[in-house]
Amino acid sequence: KYSTAAANEEPIKAPLSVTDTQLLINGQFQDAVSGKTFPTLDPRTGDVIAHVAEGDAEDINRAVSAARKAFDEGPWPKMTAYERSRIIFRFADLVEKHANEIAALETWDSGKPYEQSANIEVPMFVRVFRYYAGWADKVHGLTIPADGSLHVQTLHEPIGVAGQIIPWNFPLLMYAWKVGPALACGNTVVLKTAEQTPLSALYVSRLFHEAGLPPGVLNVVSGFGPTAGSALCSHMDVDKLAFTGSTDTGKVVLELAARSNLKPVTLELGGKSPFIVCEDADVDKAVELAHFALFFNQGQCCCAGSRTYVHERVYDEFVEKAKARAMKRSVGDPFKEGIEQGPQVDSDQFEKILKYIRSGIESGATLEAGGERFGTKGYYIKPTVFSNVKEDMLIAKDEIFGPVQTILKFKDLDDVVRRANATRYGLAAGVFTQNLDTANTLTRALRAGTVWINCYDTFDAAIPFGGYKMSGHGREKGVYSLRNYLQVKAVVTQLKNPAW
Ligand code: NAD
Repeated sequence: KYSTAAANEEPIKAPLSVTDTQLLINGQFQDAVSGKTFPTLDPRTGDVIAHVAEGDAEDINRAVSAARKAFDEGPWPKMTAYERSRIIFRFADLVEKHANEIAALETWDSGKPYEQSANIEVPMFVRVFRYYAGWADKVHGLTIPADGSLHVQTLHEPIGVAGQIIPWNFPLLMYAWKVGPALACGNTVVLKTAEQTPLSALYVSRLFHEAGLPPGVLNVVSGFGPTAGSALCSHMDVDKLAFTGSTDTGKVVLELAARSNLKPVTLELGGKSPFIVCEDADVDKAVELAHFALFFNQGQCCCAGSRTYVHERVYDEFVEKAKARAMKRSVGDPFKEGIEQGPQVDSDQFEKILKYIRSGIESGATLEAGGERFGTKGYYIKPTVFSNVKEDMLIAKDEIFGPVQTILKFKDLDDVVRRANATRYGLAAGVFTQNLDTANTLTRALRAGTVWINCYDTFDAAIPFGGYKMSGHGREKGVYSLRNYLQVKAVVTQLKNPAW
């Protein structure tokens, strides 16, 4: 039996009101030029939380002009790196001070459990900003021993105006991964948030200005992809783009960048990541980790362990226990204590996931648990488990982006490596084993940007993240992300007296 937590009850009142709904351009909250707004909805009910200013090409132009001016005329790239670092540290402190309100806003707009927003996402947001604040005054070039009478140095300089587009599944974390390194390196930013979740970015950006961020350094435009998003990608005055979202939109972003001013692009895209349970696994622990790898954040993770490969020796036991675990998952109002799973973000995602579930049933996979909506209102879906899944089924090929676990059986390492790699994606992989040789062999063989051994979804600010193949270009987080936001200038000086 599923836990019948609050899905059919009155939703808990969100413990705050919405203060920031306008666009943030040049340090000022303002309406869209068109005067248009769009509703942002509560995924628990589909009710309107607030009407938010809807930016489009005109607003992007204004935001880019402000960012351009702040970059070209300063003070941001011209102030000392230490001063930049101090502002970012102050911002992190302010976010910490307002952590409860920010977590509540994030839960209200996205549907994720409040305990997750408060205990994972806001603390990680703060951590990522502190990490990059620490880098701000440690970015520097090299001195290179070139041939002949040359003195050669490199200067690491900010690129300029960074256009950044983020999705709805981790609105705060995606903001941190993008804005943190860009600002630490001295760039200015125009951020386009996802239309499903515009609120938390506006709230924290107000705090950033309270922390002393000069006007124009960070501009936030809420709005839709084909209007505001594509205007940002095509803009001739944007020097760099960073995008997180679906692979299909990633292709559009790359094309728009190429057709305009060939701005460099980093892309964090989709995935269909294998989670491999080896024959020596402690099945109970493997079930728990595989469950977390897939169901975390309502299954709305680009790196979700969405193909669970289990060795044939432990397959039946694993399926039984995975089913039992899914049935025990507590689903309900994300503001309620102890809830593991809230609603999906919106009706589009909700319908898409139910369609994939139907396709799994029709293609002959065995439905072990779930398979339908949970409750009667909002976008809740029962934690769903399929066994006897084959690679040619859509549920094993496409990114479902929902609480649907697909369990496949494998024979040996050669078999699982071949099948795990047979995908257009390459974002992440998980391996569960006690055997060092198996762990090392799989680590080398798997074509993925992250391989988690006996853990999953660990996201320390210092660990790089990004994809192979059609999961993206480049890496975010860690020292690797600084490279995305720096130009390297070689300075070559002819010496008069090379003898010295
Ligand atoms: P999406 O690609 O539709 O939207 C992402 C962002 O792109 C939104 O801000 C949207 O407004 C914008 N956008 C849409 N069309 C655009 C266009 N033509 N030009 C410019 N911008 C445009 O993706 P989604 O469905 O909202 O998000 C889910 C997808 O994101 C999943 O496929 C998931 O795997 C992926 N994702 C990847 C990562 C990662 O780090 N690799 C992280 C989170 C989500």
